[in-house]
Amino acid sequence: WFVVFEGGDGVGKSTQVELLADALADAGVSHLVTREPGGTPLGDNIRELLLDPASGDVAPRAEALLYAADKAQHLHEVVVPALAAGKVVVCDRYLDSMLAYQGAGRVLELREVADIADWATRGLRPDLTVLLDLDPDEAVGMKEHKDRLEQAGVEFHRRVRQGFLDLANADPERYLVLPGRQGREWAAGRVRERLRGLGV
Ligand code: C5P
Repeated sequence: WFVVFEGGDGVGKSTQVELLADALADAGVSHLVTREPGGTPLGDNIRELLLDPASGDVAPRAEALLYAADKAQHLHEVVVPALAAGKVVVCDRYLDSMLAYQGAGRVLELREVADIADWATRGLRPDLTVLLDLDPDEAVGMKEHKDRLEQAGVEFHRRVRQGFLDLANADPERYLVLPGRQGREWAAGRVRERLRGLGV
């Protein structure tokens, strides 16, 4: 099983990833927690490059290709072997982040970004994507964020939010959309419920 958490910056994804990992551990389910960008040595280097203000004005297409490279490495090195070993893989960001940030956010053609992402991932899709949805104005610490991407401004983050929602609306079977302001325990409960429904 491949379970992904998606959403804008500061919506509480990493908290939900931790809560799910705790629940899976309590239930004795073999699992692996990972994240993008990062999750591998090459990916961590790419992440540094992407988040470093010293990278300057990174062209949207260059940005998309770096995220795609991170994803290809991450699948090859971490996700695919773990799935093959029968683990539940819980990943903080995946494909939809590329579509929402580089597609909707950086205003690249969605179809083109999707083609690059599909190529990088060999078409591997999550079994469930949990989208934590929150107005960027309410996201934790948005004002204090300092890395290159978080400086992009509230309009950028609004496009990203809408990008995620459009993806979820287009394929409701594979998504669980949770309003980020409902509280962490509530959200964690919904995730467990949905996964139990899937037999995890
Ligand atoms: O969620 P996390 O903090 O790990 O993401 C790191 C940064 O990378 C965030 O600022 C996020 O907005 C950005 N990002 C992006 N495009 C992606 C994935 C992440 O701009 N495809």
